[in-house]
Amino acid sequence: MKILDKIYINGEFVTPHGTDTLTLNSPLNGEPLTQVRLADGLDTVNAVAAAKAALKTFSQTTKEARIGHLKSMHAVLKRRRNELISVMIEEYGCPLRFTTLLIDGAIDDFNNMAELLEHYDFTPRVGDSQVRLQPVGVVGVIVPWNSSNGFIATKVSAAIAAGCTCVVKPSELSARQTALMMECFHEAGLPKGVVNILNGTGALVGTEITENPDIAKITFTGSTAVGKIIAAGAVETMKRVTLELGGKSANIILDDADFAAAIPQALSACYINSGQACIAATRLLVPASRLDEVNRLISAAVGAIKVGNPAEADTAVGPMVSQTQYARVQDYIRLGIEEGATLLAGGLGKPEGLEDGNFVKATVFTDVRNDMRIAQEEIFGPVLCVIPYQDEADAVAIANDSPYGLAAYITAADKQRAYRLAAQIDAGRVCINGAFHDPLAPFGGFKQSGYGREFGVYGLDAYLEPKAIIG
Ligand code: NAD
Repeated sequence: MKILDKIYINGEFVTPHGTDTLTLNSPLNGEPLTQVRLADGLDTVNAVAAAKAALKTFSQTTKEARIGHLKSMHAVLKRRRNELISVMIEEYGCPLRFTTLLIDGAIDDFNNMAELLEHYDFTPRVGDSQVRLQPVGVVGVIVPWNSSNGFIATKVSAAIAAGCTCVVKPSELSARQTALMMECFHEAGLPKGVVNILNGTGALVGTEITENPDIAKITFTGSTAVGKIIAAGAVETMKRVTLELGGKSANIILDDADFAAAIPQALSACYINSGQACIAATRLLVPASRLDEVNRLISAAVGAIKVGNPAEADTAVGPMVSQTQYARVQDYIRLGIEEGATLLAGGLGKPEGLEDGNFVKATVFTDVRNDMRIAQEEIFGPVLCVIPYQDEADAVAIANDSPYGLAAYITAADKQRAYRLAAQIDAGRVCINGAFHDPLAPFGGFKQSGYGREFGVYGLDAYLEPKAIIG
């Protein structure tokens, strides 16, 4: 078993004051993988102090210097790409095909921010005034386990580009991925204290970050429940807050679409990251008059979805990250059956031959009503809900009848029709005809999916405080 007993503060790998330990088991077979020693509140205070001290000089560095730091981080991540991929697969169980996308995205984040910075004007003139865009200050970065290093890359690259310093708290379930990221930041040779990283719990480290008066901004990705706790706690010191929260994204297939192509794509869009993705297209909205055809196509396509070893290139669905997550998904499958949805594929229990790991069957419920809990709540596993709609207006109403508003998907032969529909959807991102991600487009949620945006220029703006100098 690997022992991880270091955190990264002020450019050094130090032993935490915290003495609590946590054992992480393999999601593939339940074997103990890692024992991690967790940081506590005092470690967090020390990390904040280091970030605050570093801010004095880092906030004054030139744009060119910051571009240099971003490029060197890009180079380190590129060099260590294979390690980043394999540790993510081993610790988290993310299928190779998706892990590769996420890690390549993380590597690109640093380069994209460097390129954006080249042309970014930190002192634009507005009216008769000069506006100075200043770094907001020390940033608390809190991220979940489902793409831990990906989220760190998106947030920290923007923070560095703005001239901010960071205290990073990933999920304690991602301890090995976190340890590798510490090494990468160290190797990139960033000035001491610019990036500090702690393995610790939300209750201790997360709470200290939320309440510490020397932190000016929190950027959080995670559940809506924890986002609300952070937003409420941050009010006391008026921290700026960016919240990337949960989702229950609708995927609308219009009647002119090529159903034979759209249905397998819809399964992939739901089962992305084994269903443990905020942007997963978990509600498939199809014309009621074509429901039988859709059910037939799904039954034929779902057999081709391979659930199994995430290291294999053709695996679409790996294990759930933990036994807790496995049990949560099972509870939702049970609930769907109780609520009267029709189970079309998958269901309770583990797939044959995969009994040792946290594997869930690729599951589809059909003829689901949008007011059922399985259609309203985030399951975070490979469970698709097929919901019939009567006409376009009904499809929009169902898509918008959700507490969430993170992403939506539309498939149509007539792209103009899809654009017209996109304008009516309450979500921060609408992807058309299989499109998935644009690293320069803003990303964030409407409604209870959070507030603020990441990526590109909107992402950078979120780390800057505009000051008007008038006269
Ligand atoms: P979570 O909210 O339980 O935890 C996220 C992070 O918050 C972890 O680091 C955790 O330790 C920390 N935390 C927990 N309690 C805290 C507290 N009281 N104060 C401060 N920090 C605290 O989420 P999770 O289970 O790790 O991840 C899954 C959730 O993340 C899902 O709801 C998913 O939709 C969401 N998510 C959102 C996005 C997005 O971009 N919108 C992306 C990925 C995941």
